[in-house]
Amino acid sequence: MAKWVYLFKEGKADMKNLLGGKGANLAEMTNLGLPIPQGFTVTTEACTDYYNSGKKITDEIKGQIFDALKILEDQQGKKFGDTENPLLVSVRSGARASMPGMMDTILNLGLTDVAVEGFAKKTGNPRFAYDSYRRFIQMFSDVVMEISKAKFERVLDEIKEKKGVKFDTELSADDLKDVIAQYKALYKAEKGTEFPQEPTEQLIEAVTAVFRSWDNPRAIYYRRMNDIPGDWGTAVNVQAMVFGNMGDTSGTGVAFTRNPSTGEAKIYGEYLINAQGEDVVAGIRTPQPITKLEEDMPEAYKEFMRIATLLENHYKDMQDMEFTIEDKTLYFLQTRNGKRTAPAALQIACDLVDEGKITKEQAIARIEAKSLDQLLHPGFDVKALKAAAPVGKALPASPGAAAGKVYFTAEDAKNHHEKGERVILVRLETSPEDIEGMHAAEGILTVRGGMTSHAAVVARGMGTACVSGCGEIVIDEAAKVFTIAGQTVKEGDYISLDGSTGNIYIGDIPTVEAAISGNFDRIMTWADEIRTLKVRTNADTPADAANAVKFGAEGIGLCRTEHMFFEGDRIHKIRKMILSKTVEAREEALNQLIPFQKGDFKGLYEVMEGRPVTIRFLDPPLHEFVPTEDDDIAALAKDMGLSVEEVKATCDSLHEFNPMMGHRGCRLAVTYPEIAKMQTRAVMEAAIEVKNEKGFDIVPEIMIPLVGEKRELKFVKDIVVETAEAVKKEKGSDIEYHIGTMIEIPRAALLADEIAEEAEFFSFGTNDLTQMTFGFSRDDAGKFLDAYYTNKIFESDPFARLDQDGVGQLVKMASEKGRKTRPNIKLGICGEHGGDPSTVEFCHNVGLNYVSCSPFRVPIARLAAAQAVLNQK
Ligand code: PEP
Ligand code: MG
Repeated sequence: MAKWVYLFKEGKADMKNLLGGKGANLAEMTNLGLPIPQGFTVTTEACTDYYNSGKKITDEIKGQIFDALKILEDQQGKKFGDTENPLLVSVRSGARASMPGMMDTILNLGLTDVAVEGFAKKTGNPRFAYDSYRRFIQMFSDVVMEISKAKFERVLDEIKEKKGVKFDTELSADDLKDVIAQYKALYKAEKGTEFPQEPTEQLIEAVTAVFRSWDNPRAIYYRRMNDIPGDWGTAVNVQAMVFGNMGDTSGTGVAFTRNPSTGEAKIYGEYLINAQGEDVVAGIRTPQPITKLEEDMPEAYKEFMRIATLLENHYKDMQDMEFTIEDKTLYFLQTRNGKRTAPAALQIACDLVDEGKITKEQAIARIEAKSLDQLLHPGFDVKALKAAAPVGKALPASPGAAAGKVYFTAEDAKNHHEKGERVILVRLETSPEDIEGMHAAEGILTVRGGMTSHAAVVARGMGTACVSGCGEIVIDEAAKVFTIAGQTVKEGDYISLDGSTGNIYIGDIPTVEAAISGNFDRIMTWADEIRTLKVRTNADTPADAANAVKFGAEGIGLCRTEHMFFEGDRIHKIRKMILSKTVEAREEALNQLIPFQKGDFKGLYEVMEGRPVTIRFLDPPLHEFVPTEDDDIAALAKDMGLSVEEVKATCDSLHEFNPMMGHRGCRLAVTYPEIAKMQTRAVMEAAIEVKNEKGFDIVPEIMIPLVGEKRELKFVKDIVVETAEAVKKEKGSDIEYHIGTMIEIPRAALLADEIAEEAEFFSFGTNDLTQMTFGFSRDDAGKFLDAYYTNKIFESDPFARLDQDGVGQLVKMASEKGRKTRPNIKLGICGEHGGDPSTVEFCHNVGLNYVSCSPFRVPIARLAAAQAVLNQK
């Protein structure tokens, strides 16, 4: 019989896959002899089994849960539902990777009309017992039965008003009995059944709710953003309750062994006296800093610090811990490697290496490559910031500067972001339903919540600026307006947030790029020592290229030459070329383009100082370039000496039904060889001149796009060779050059061995390769892919994370075929996937020579390439 349930003492830290992170760590802490309320973990495999069994928990699993419960009862000397001394438990989810968005916690499970009396008797504190019961009804109804929390809050508010009190704590035991009666009536009205009075039924319902939450839309979204596979499942932890709300010698808190925002090696956290865990996270009362515990309860603080240090030394990483003090006795409820900002991640990694606790390799393996994005995020323009006066200040929950228009719901934030606006999400407090809006936002501002509140933790994880807990704000979410310092801010007004100081400004303060600390260079140097895969950049202008070099780019893997014509009146010139009807007219238009193109190439070669530069010949999908605006058409007509009607007619004749599969890439050069001639001349002249002027060792790499057939490549290549040789002769140069192709059409991958006869290098254009392998239009897939995620057909966007099974197979096969024909063929990738960590690892494993990605993702790719080496070991 399979084992579905493990007591804490039966597990250990390396059983994360089976027990989830929380379960494995609770087991490990139990083995270390730490004060952990005991319990058991229902495995991730039980979750998978639940889904495979038609969303049912089998009798076998239920049986094992009840067996473990019996052992827990014996251990605790308490009984589920008992009239004298009832056992109460917490139920918490815990996947392999911590996942906000899933069901989090239910406390006080096991309380019933009968058990609450036993609990009151045992604790000698009826008020406390009834308060625990009403909390449980509320939490169970919300989390397990999905009855809106707000409905319960309304009941509570009404009773408080009737009694003329402000805080829950002012309600008497009898008042709370009244609350319970009304809560139960509400439950019955909503569900049509009585609130469950059988604790085992409560438990199975709660376990089911955790399993169910694995597949809610928020969890699916979070998995997609964080590359977490859907088949991992979540474990469920059932743990005996301890109470932080038993009076002033009790309390509960959350703490980190180092500062999760900056990495500073100092205990950091907060706690509340006389409270349950959810009070700290929800930010209902403002918590005290953890160091205050030293004054309030010196003994408990000493013990807390001893264990915190022990845990950090044991896991050799910054720990995020939850604890409860029940009548002066300290318990740890969980520990895990703490989430941190990217600057903190680097600081902690460097410090742990310096402290001799971990190796450089371990440091590299731990830093989440994607999080480096945060380091490169903007701050405020110093001058503009000086001129601005903050209207308020709250907790600096997640660093970075943000400015944008205010929206009050996640949905509005998302919709306006999609329209191209910069948005700031302002909420009373955030909850996991807000995740997509938070993602869309430049910054997040909340009225409630501490440094460990949902908004703070999630924003920090995403690298989004966040200011939380601004009690000075009076917000009316329904009317979409808030006031601060006597000023009113409406939906659509601009505000600016400084997530590093907590300052709030009215207006749109300009932001500037991030400056990178010394830790960044250290970590990058270590990564460079480990990695074998080279990292190039996709850059079309000298400015972008210079930026990428700063981030460590070792060359240009893709210069999209058509992008060089986006700016100023250049677009006009390329349109003229596209609309030319005769070879003469086209050559004339091309002659106007040559000086620009050559100048740009020279700029690139100068910036790159001899590093390899791959120049991709023109690939303008026509729908992006043919003019549609009347003004543009009129200007072209004038310049070309044609009537507006003639130009319009030409535009119409160029209309394509499937422009992505239309007259683009090398097909243009096949029809109009003069384009390839012009571009070759520009590349060769630029390279020869910069080589002569600056002495850089330049070997131009010319890349022919959208090739699907060897003869097609050969046709264009012959033109390139003929022109290049002519330029060399004219210039008296013996410069070397390489001609290669993109592999971005499935046929090219299938026939890569033949194509390699003509190509000296391949660069995988996985944007088009994905488009054409799936048959999904790059431009339209966004419209329907959402349905693929919600229906669990796809777990991730194939245009962001390489589909390794399908498209990846083509990459692998083409690499092998290419190498067979030409053993020293150079292989790279230049689709957007080149900056995605999982794709970088795939490229390393397939044996590509380099990845090429946008400048800001170069550091991510460098780190991911090093991690790929470490993962292979
Ligand atoms: C590609 O298709 O992957 C590619 C890099 O080229 P483009 O995005 O310019 O089509
Ligand atoms: Mg392409």
